[in-house]
Amino acid sequence: MTMSALGEPCVLLKLGELVLKGKNRELFERRLVGNIRAALKEFELKVDVRARHGVIAIFLPEGTTVEQADAIAQRVTDVPGTIWIHRAWRVAKDPDSVVKAAVELVRDRPETARGASFRVRSRRRDKRFPLTSAELDRMVGGTINDEFKLPVDLKNAELSIYVEVDRDEVFVFTDGLPGQGGLPVGISGRALVLMSGGIDSPVAAYRMMRRGLHVDFLHFSGIPFTTSESIYKAYALVRKLDRFQGRSRLWVVPFGKAQQSIRTSGQDRLAVIAQRRLMLKTAEEVAHRIRAEALITGDALGQVSSQTLANITAQDNAVELPILRPLVGWDKTEIMAEARRIGTLEISELPDEDCCSLLAPKRAETRAKIEDLKQIEKRLDAEELCVQLADSIQEYTL
Ligand code: ATP
Ligand code: MG
Repeated sequence: MTMSALGEPCVLLKLGELVLKGKNRELFERRLVGNIRAALKEFELKVDVRARHGVIAIFLPEGTTVEQADAIAQRVTDVPGTIWIHRAWRVAKDPDSVVKAAVELVRDRPETARGASFRVRSRRRDKRFPLTSAELDRMVGGTINDEFKLPVDLKNAELSIYVEVDRDEVFVFTDGLPGQGGLPVGISGRALVLMSGGIDSPVAAYRMMRRGLHVDFLHFSGIPFTTSESIYKAYALVRKLDRFQGRSRLWVVPFGKAQQSIRTSGQDRLAVIAQRRLMLKTAEEVAHRIRAEALITGDALGQVSSQTLANITAQDNAVELPILRPLVGWDKTEIMAEARRIGTLEISELPDEDCCSLLAPKRAETRAKIEDLKQIEKRLDAEELCVQLADSIQEYTL
Protein backbone atom coordinates (compact mmCIF):
# COMPACT_ATOMS: atom_id res chain seq x y z
CA MET A 1 0.00 0.00 0.00
CA THR A 2 1.40 3.40 -0.94
CA MET A 3 0.12 6.62 0.44
CA SER A 4 0.02 9.05 -2.46
CA ALA A 5 -3.71 9.86 -2.13
CA LEU A 6 -2.93 12.23 0.73
CA GLY A 7 0.17 13.92 -0.59
CA GLU A 8 3.74 12.86 0.09
CA PRO A 9 4.46 10.88 3.24
CA CYS A 10 6.99 12.36 5.61
CA VAL A 11 8.00 12.46 9.25
CA LEU A 12 8.08 15.78 11.04
CA LEU A 13 10.24 16.33 14.13
CA LYS A 14 9.70 19.05 16.71
CA LEU A 15 12.83 20.22 18.44
CA GLY A 16 13.00 20.90 22.15
CA GLU A 17 15.68 22.83 23.89
CA LEU A 18 17.45 23.35 20.61
CA VAL A 19 15.24 26.20 19.64
CA LEU A 20 16.53 28.18 22.60
CA LYS A 21 20.12 28.08 21.50
CA GLY A 22 20.37 31.31 19.51
CA LYS A 23 23.45 31.60 17.33
CA ASN A 24 24.46 27.97 17.76
CA ARG A 25 21.13 26.76 16.57
CA GLU A 26 22.20 26.13 13.01
CA LEU A 27 25.12 24.06 14.20
CA PHE A 28 22.83 22.07 16.46
CA GLU A 29 20.32 21.47 13.71
CA ARG A 30 23.03 20.29 11.38
CA ARG A 31 24.29 17.83 14.00
CA LEU A 32 20.78 16.53 14.61
CA VAL A 33 20.14 16.10 10.89
CA GLY A 34 23.41 14.11 10.66
CA ASN A 35 22.45 11.93 13.64
CA ILE A 36 19.03 11.21 12.14
CA ARG A 37 20.55 10.27 8.78
CA ALA A 38 22.96 7.91 10.53
CA ALA A 39 20.14 6.31 12.56
CA LEU A 40 18.08 5.72 9.41
CA LYS A 41 20.87 4.02 7.43
CA GLU A 42 19.59 0.63 8.58
CA PHE A 43 16.40 1.12 6.51
CA GLU A 44 18.17 1.20 3.15
CA LEU A 45 15.62 3.69 1.86
CA LYS A 46 16.55 6.93 0.16
CA VAL A 47 15.25 9.33 2.78
CA ASP A 48 15.83 13.06 2.58
CA VAL A 49 16.34 14.76 5.96
CA ARG A 50 16.09 18.55 6.06
CA ALA A 51 15.99 21.31 8.64
CA ARG A 52 13.10 23.73 8.08
CA HIS A 53 12.98 26.75 10.39
CA GLY A 54 12.56 25.07 13.76
CA VAL A 55 11.39 21.66 12.58
CA ILE A 56 13.14 18.82 10.81
CA ALA A 57 11.38 16.98 8.02
CA ILE A 58 12.18 13.50 6.78
CA PHE A 59 10.87 13.10 3.24
CA LEU A 60 10.27 9.49 2.25
CA PRO A 61 10.69 8.13 -1.27
CA GLU A 62 7.69 7.28 -3.41
CA GLY A 63 6.41 3.78 -2.73
CA THR A 64 7.24 3.88 0.98
CA THR A 65 4.74 1.69 2.82
CA VAL A 66 2.76 2.75 5.87
CA GLU A 67 4.66 0.14 7.89
CA GLN A 68 8.02 1.54 6.76
CA ALA A 69 6.98 5.09 7.55
CA ASP A 70 5.81 4.01 11.02
CA ALA A 71 9.07 2.15 11.63
CA ILE A 72 11.10 5.20 10.62
CA ALA A 73 9.10 7.45 12.93
CA GLN A 74 9.59 4.92 15.72
CA ARG A 75 13.32 4.72 15.10
CA VAL A 76 13.86 8.47 15.36
CA THR A 77 12.15 8.58 18.76
CA ASP A 78 15.49 7.23 20.05
CA VAL A 79 17.58 10.07 18.65
CA PRO A 80 18.09 12.74 21.36
CA GLY A 81 17.20 16.34 20.50
CA THR A 82 13.55 16.08 19.52
CA ILE A 83 10.40 16.27 21.61
CA TRP A 84 7.73 15.09 19.16
CA ILE A 85 7.79 12.87 16.12
CA HIS A 86 4.78 13.09 13.80
CA ARG A 87 3.91 11.00 10.78
CA ALA A 88 2.84 13.75 8.43
CA TRP A 89 1.69 14.56 4.91
CA ARG A 90 3.43 17.12 2.79
CA VAL A 91 0.88 18.82 0.56
CA ALA A 92 0.87 21.60 -2.00
CA LYS A 93 0.59 25.11 -0.69
CA ASP A 94 -3.04 25.85 -1.45
CA PRO A 95 -6.09 25.67 0.80
CA ASP A 96 -7.88 22.98 -1.24
CA SER A 97 -4.99 20.53 -1.02
CA VAL A 98 -4.79 21.13 2.72
CA VAL A 99 -8.47 20.43 3.25
CA LYS A 100 -8.37 17.33 1.09
CA ALA A 101 -5.39 15.91 2.96
CA ALA A 102 -6.96 16.65 6.35
CA VAL A 103 -10.19 14.90 5.38
CA GLU A 104 -8.34 11.81 4.14
CA LEU A 105 -6.24 11.77 7.27
CA VAL A 106 -9.32 11.84 9.51
CA ARG A 107 -11.07 9.19 7.39
CA ASP A 108 -8.38 6.63 8.26
CA ARG A 109 -8.27 7.32 11.98
CA PRO A 110 -9.82 4.84 14.44
CA GLU A 111 -11.26 7.78 16.44
CA THR A 112 -13.45 8.75 13.49
CA ALA A 113 -15.45 5.52 13.47
CA ARG A 114 -16.46 5.98 17.09
CA GLY A 115 -17.44 9.64 16.64
CA ALA A 116 -14.67 11.13 18.76
CA SER A 117 -14.33 14.87 19.30
CA PHE A 118 -11.72 16.75 17.27
CA ARG A 119 -10.06 20.09 16.77
CA VAL A 120 -7.87 21.71 14.14
CA ARG A 121 -4.83 23.78 15.01
CA SER A 122 -3.15 25.72 12.24
CA ARG A 123 0.12 27.63 12.26
CA ARG A 124 1.81 29.64 9.59
CA ARG A 125 5.56 29.86 9.47
CA ASP A 126 5.03 31.64 6.14
CA LYS A 127 2.62 34.54 6.55
CA ARG A 128 2.11 34.99 2.80
CA PHE A 129 -0.38 32.12 2.75
CA PRO A 130 -3.80 33.46 1.56
CA LEU A 131 -5.65 32.36 4.73
CA THR A 132 -4.93 33.28 8.35
CA SER A 133 -4.50 30.48 10.89
CA ALA A 134 -8.01 31.10 12.23
CA GLU A 135 -9.47 30.95 8.73
CA LEU A 136 -7.62 27.72 8.04
CA ASP A 137 -8.92 26.21 11.30
CA ARG A 138 -12.48 27.07 10.31
CA MET A 139 -12.20 25.86 6.75
CA VAL A 140 -10.55 22.52 7.60
CA GLY A 141 -12.70 22.00 10.71
CA GLY A 142 -15.91 22.84 8.85
CA THR A 143 -15.21 20.34 6.09
CA ILE A 144 -14.32 17.57 8.54
CA ASN A 145 -17.49 18.34 10.43
CA ASP A 146 -19.63 18.16 7.27
CA GLU A 147 -18.00 14.96 6.12
CA PHE A 148 -17.87 12.91 9.34
CA LYS A 149 -20.21 14.74 11.76
CA LEU A 150 -17.58 14.72 14.51
CA PRO A 151 -18.10 17.14 17.41
CA VAL A 152 -15.56 19.95 17.82
CA ASP A 153 -13.85 20.26 21.20
CA LEU A 154 -11.17 22.92 21.35
CA LYS A 155 -9.93 22.01 24.84
CA ASN A 156 -10.03 18.24 25.23
CA ALA A 157 -10.31 16.89 21.71
CA GLU A 158 -9.56 13.19 21.33
CA LEU A 159 -8.20 13.82 17.86
CA SER A 160 -6.13 16.86 16.95
CA ILE A 161 -5.39 17.80 13.36
CA TYR A 162 -2.37 20.03 12.90
CA VAL A 163 -1.76 22.17 9.85
CA GLU A 164 1.58 23.90 9.48
CA VAL A 165 2.24 26.24 6.60
CA ASP A 166 5.91 26.38 5.67
CA ARG A 167 7.84 28.25 2.99
CA ASP A 168 7.62 25.56 0.32
CA GLU A 169 4.84 23.28 1.52
CA VAL A 170 2.17 22.57 4.09
CA PHE A 171 2.40 19.75 6.65
CA VAL A 172 -0.80 18.07 7.84
CA PHE A 173 -0.63 15.61 10.73
CA THR A 174 -2.15 14.26 13.95
CA ASP A 175 -0.67 13.51 17.36
CA GLY A 176 2.84 12.10 17.39
CA LEU A 177 5.20 10.01 19.45
CA PRO A 178 7.23 11.62 22.25
CA GLY A 179 10.95 12.00 21.54
CA GLN A 180 13.85 11.69 23.99
CA GLY A 181 14.22 15.44 24.50
CA GLY A 182 17.71 16.68 25.34
CA LEU A 183 20.39 17.73 22.89
CA PRO A 184 21.84 16.10 19.77
CA VAL A 185 24.61 13.63 20.61
CA GLY A 186 28.01 15.06 19.80
CA ILE A 187 27.45 18.75 20.34
CA SER A 188 28.91 18.61 23.86
CA GLY A 189 31.99 16.58 22.90
CA ARG A 190 33.17 13.11 23.87
CA ALA A 191 33.38 11.36 27.22
CA LEU A 192 34.30 7.95 28.64
CA VAL A 193 31.79 6.03 30.78
CA LEU A 194 33.03 3.65 33.47
CA MET A 195 30.61 0.85 32.81
CA SER A 196 30.13 -2.00 35.24
CA GLY A 197 27.46 -4.58 34.50
CA GLY A 198 25.25 -2.92 37.10
CA ILE A 199 22.08 -0.88 36.97
CA ASP A 200 23.47 2.60 37.48
CA SER A 201 26.24 3.14 34.94
CA PRO A 202 24.12 2.44 31.81
CA VAL A 203 21.56 4.97 33.04
CA ALA A 204 24.36 7.49 33.70
CA ALA A 205 25.63 6.94 30.15
CA TYR A 206 22.17 7.53 28.70
CA ARG A 207 21.62 10.74 30.69
CA MET A 208 24.88 12.20 29.44
CA MET A 209 24.23 11.20 25.83
CA ARG A 210 21.05 13.18 26.15
CA ARG A 211 23.08 16.23 27.14
CA GLY A 212 24.97 16.01 23.87
CA LEU A 213 27.97 13.83 24.76
CA HIS A 214 29.10 11.02 22.52
CA VAL A 215 30.38 8.33 24.87
CA ASP A 216 32.81 5.44 24.75
CA PHE A 217 32.42 2.64 27.32
CA LEU A 218 35.16 1.27 29.58
CA HIS A 219 34.68 -1.94 31.53
CA PHE A 220 37.04 -3.47 34.09
CA SER A 221 36.77 -7.25 34.16
CA GLY A 222 38.17 -9.54 36.85
CA ILE A 223 39.97 -11.61 34.23
CA PRO A 224 41.99 -13.85 34.74
CA PHE A 225 40.29 -14.58 38.07
CA THR A 226 36.69 -14.38 36.86
CA THR A 227 34.83 -15.62 33.78
CA SER A 228 34.02 -13.42 30.78
CA GLU A 229 30.38 -13.08 31.81
CA SER A 230 30.71 -9.47 32.91
CA ILE A 231 32.14 -8.60 29.49
CA TYR A 232 29.17 -10.16 27.72
CA LYS A 233 26.89 -8.15 29.96
CA ALA A 234 28.74 -4.92 29.31
CA TYR A 235 28.61 -5.68 25.60
CA ALA A 236 24.87 -6.37 25.71
CA LEU A 237 24.33 -3.09 27.56
CA VAL A 238 26.37 -1.13 25.05
CA ARG A 239 24.34 -2.68 22.24
CA LYS A 240 21.15 -1.64 23.97
CA LEU A 241 22.39 1.93 24.41
CA ASP A 242 23.84 2.26 20.92
CA ARG A 243 20.51 3.18 19.39
CA PHE A 244 20.69 6.55 21.16
CA GLN A 245 24.05 7.57 19.70
CA GLY A 246 25.51 5.11 17.15
CA ARG A 247 29.16 4.17 16.63
CA SER A 248 29.59 2.95 20.21
CA ARG A 249 32.84 1.35 21.34
CA LEU A 250 33.42 -0.85 24.36
CA TRP A 251 36.89 -1.02 25.86
CA VAL A 252 37.73 -3.80 28.30
CA VAL A 253 40.60 -3.80 30.79
CA PRO A 254 41.62 -7.13 32.39
CA PHE A 255 41.85 -5.90 35.94
CA GLY A 256 42.16 -9.08 38.03
CA LYS A 257 45.91 -8.94 38.64
CA ALA A 258 45.89 -5.28 39.58
CA GLN A 259 43.20 -6.05 42.11
CA GLN A 260 45.21 -8.80 43.59
CA SER A 261 48.07 -6.39 44.18
CA ILE A 262 45.70 -3.91 45.83
CA ARG A 263 44.53 -6.63 48.15
CA THR A 264 48.01 -7.52 49.24
CA SER A 265 49.27 -3.96 49.47
CA GLY A 266 47.39 -2.32 52.27
CA GLN A 267 44.49 -1.98 54.54
CA ASP A 268 41.53 -4.14 53.76
CA ARG A 269 39.07 -1.36 54.52
CA LEU A 270 40.57 0.94 51.93
CA ALA A 271 40.72 -1.65 49.15
CA VAL A 272 37.46 -0.70 47.47
CA ILE A 273 38.25 2.97 47.27
CA ALA A 274 41.87 2.34 46.26
CA GLN A 275 40.55 0.17 43.49
CA ARG A 276 38.10 2.83 42.38
CA ARG A 277 40.94 5.36 42.21
CA LEU A 278 43.03 2.99 40.13
CA MET A 279 40.08 2.51 37.76
CA LEU A 280 39.73 6.26 37.43
CA LYS A 281 43.43 6.78 36.80
CA THR A 282 43.36 4.07 34.13
CA ALA A 283 40.22 5.60 32.65
CA GLU A 284 41.93 8.97 32.49
CA GLU A 285 44.87 7.44 30.63
CA VAL A 286 42.46 5.79 28.16
CA ALA A 287 40.48 9.04 27.84
CA HIS A 288 43.61 10.90 26.76
CA ARG A 289 44.29 8.27 24.12
CA ILE A 290 40.80 8.44 22.61
CA ARG A 291 40.43 12.21 23.15
CA ALA A 292 37.61 12.03 25.65
CA GLU A 293 37.22 15.17 27.74
CA ALA A 294 35.44 13.82 30.81
CA LEU A 295 34.76 10.62 32.76
CA ILE A 296 31.23 9.48 33.66
CA THR A 297 30.25 7.19 36.54
CA GLY A 298 26.97 5.92 37.94
CA ASP A 299 27.69 7.11 41.50
CA ALA A 300 24.72 8.30 43.58
CA LEU A 301 25.46 10.05 46.85
CA GLY A 302 25.29 7.66 49.79
CA GLN A 303 24.06 4.64 47.81
CA VAL A 304 26.95 2.44 48.97
CA SER A 305 29.97 3.03 51.20
CA SER A 306 32.22 3.96 48.28
CA GLN A 307 29.83 6.79 47.43
CA THR A 308 29.89 8.84 50.64
CA LEU A 309 30.88 12.47 50.26
CA ALA A 310 34.37 11.81 51.63
CA ASN A 311 34.91 8.91 49.26
CA ILE A 312 33.60 10.84 46.27
CA THR A 313 36.09 13.57 47.21
CA ALA A 314 38.86 10.97 47.33
CA GLN A 315 37.86 9.80 43.84
CA ASP A 316 37.84 13.30 42.37
CA ASN A 317 41.32 13.76 43.80
CA ALA A 318 42.69 10.82 41.80
CA VAL A 319 42.36 12.42 38.36
CA GLU A 320 42.42 15.78 36.64
CA LEU A 321 39.60 15.21 34.18
CA PRO A 322 36.15 16.15 35.44
CA ILE A 323 34.09 13.18 36.69
CA LEU A 324 30.46 13.61 35.69
CA ARG A 325 27.95 11.89 37.95
CA PRO A 326 24.50 12.50 36.49
CA LEU A 327 22.81 10.23 39.07
CA VAL A 328 24.34 11.84 42.12
CA GLY A 329 20.97 13.08 43.41
CA TRP A 330 18.83 10.14 42.30
CA ASP A 331 17.17 7.48 44.48
CA LYS A 332 17.70 3.83 43.57
CA THR A 333 14.00 3.47 42.68
CA GLU A 334 14.25 6.40 40.27
CA ILE A 335 17.34 4.92 38.65
CA MET A 336 15.63 1.54 38.29
CA ALA A 337 12.56 3.10 36.68
CA GLU A 338 14.75 4.90 34.17
CA ALA A 339 16.73 1.69 33.49
CA ARG A 340 13.46 -0.08 32.77
CA ARG A 341 12.32 2.70 30.45
CA ILE A 342 15.51 2.66 28.36
CA GLY A 343 15.62 -1.14 28.28
CA THR A 344 18.81 -1.81 30.25
CA LEU A 345 17.37 -3.10 33.53
CA GLU A 346 16.73 -6.61 32.27
CA ILE A 347 20.36 -7.01 31.24
CA SER A 348 21.77 -5.36 34.37
CA GLU A 349 19.82 -7.74 36.58
CA LEU A 350 21.41 -10.85 35.08
CA PRO A 351 23.83 -12.42 37.53
CA ASP A 352 27.53 -11.85 36.94
CA GLU A 353 30.84 -11.61 38.63
CA ASP A 354 32.74 -8.50 37.69
CA CYS A 355 36.01 -7.48 39.23
CA CYS A 356 34.26 -5.87 42.24
CA SER A 357 33.13 -9.22 43.58
CA LEU A 358 36.77 -10.11 44.21
CA LEU A 359 37.15 -7.33 46.73
CA ALA A 360 34.49 -7.36 49.36
CA PRO A 361 35.90 -6.32 52.73
CA LYS A 362 33.86 -7.04 55.84
CA ARG A 363 33.82 -3.34 56.66
CA ALA A 364 34.50 -0.75 54.00
CA GLU A 365 35.88 2.63 54.97
CA THR A 366 33.31 5.40 54.57
CA ARG A 367 35.80 8.21 55.22
CA ALA A 368 38.89 7.34 53.28
CA LYS A 369 41.84 9.66 53.85
CA ILE A 370 43.56 10.74 50.68
CA GLU A 371 47.02 10.50 52.31
CA ASP A 372 46.48 6.81 53.15
CA LEU A 373 45.34 6.12 49.61
CA LYS A 374 48.40 7.83 48.21
CA GLN A 375 50.59 5.59 50.37
CA ILE A 376 48.97 2.51 48.89
CA GLU A 377 49.40 3.90 45.40
CA LYS A 378 53.08 4.57 46.01
CA ARG A 379 53.62 0.95 47.00
CA LEU A 380 51.71 -0.19 43.92
CA ASP A 381 53.45 2.27 41.61
CA ALA A 382 49.97 3.24 40.45
CA GLU A 383 51.16 5.76 37.86
CA GLU A 384 53.05 3.07 35.97
CA LEU A 385 50.39 0.45 36.59
CA CYS A 386 47.60 2.47 34.99
CA VAL A 387 49.67 2.98 31.84
CA GLN A 388 50.23 -0.79 31.65
CA LEU A 389 46.54 -1.40 32.19
CA ALA A 390 45.66 1.04 29.43
CA ASP A 391 48.12 -0.78 27.17
CA SER A 392 46.39 -4.11 27.82
CA ILE A 393 42.99 -2.81 26.75
CA GLN A 394 40.81 -4.67 24.26
CA GLU A 395 38.36 -2.98 21.90
CA TYR A 396 34.93 -4.28 20.97
CA THR A 397 33.31 -2.28 18.19
CA LEU A 398 29.62 -2.67 17.42
P1 ATP B 1 26.57 0.19 38.99
O1 ATP B 1 25.16 -0.23 39.11
O2 ATP B 1 26.79 1.17 37.90
O3 ATP B 1 27.51 -0.99 38.97
P2 ATP B 1 26.90 0.35 41.79
O4 ATP B 1 25.75 0.87 42.53
O5 ATP B 1 27.11 -1.13 41.74
O6 ATP B 1 26.89 0.95 40.32
P3 ATP B 1 29.65 0.67 42.46
O7 ATP B 1 29.83 -0.76 42.13
O8 ATP B 1 30.21 1.23 43.72
O9 ATP B 1 28.14 1.09 42.42
O10 ATP B 1 30.25 1.50 41.26
C1 ATP B 1 30.13 2.88 41.17
C2 ATP B 1 30.55 3.30 39.77
O11 ATP B 1 31.90 2.89 39.51
C3 ATP B 1 29.74 2.60 38.71
O12 ATP B 1 28.54 3.27 38.45
C4 ATP B 1 30.67 2.63 37.53
O13 ATP B 1 30.65 3.90 36.90
C5 ATP B 1 32.02 2.44 38.17
N1 ATP B 1 32.39 1.00 38.17
C6 ATP B 1 32.24 0.10 39.14
N2 ATP B 1 32.67 -1.12 38.77
C7 ATP B 1 33.11 -1.01 37.50
C8 ATP B 1 33.68 -1.91 36.53
N3 ATP B 1 33.87 -3.19 36.80
N4 ATP B 1 34.02 -1.41 35.32
C9 ATP B 1 33.83 -0.10 35.03
N5 ATP B 1 33.30 0.78 35.89
C10 ATP B 1 32.94 0.36 37.11
MG1 MG C 1 28.53 -2.14 40.51
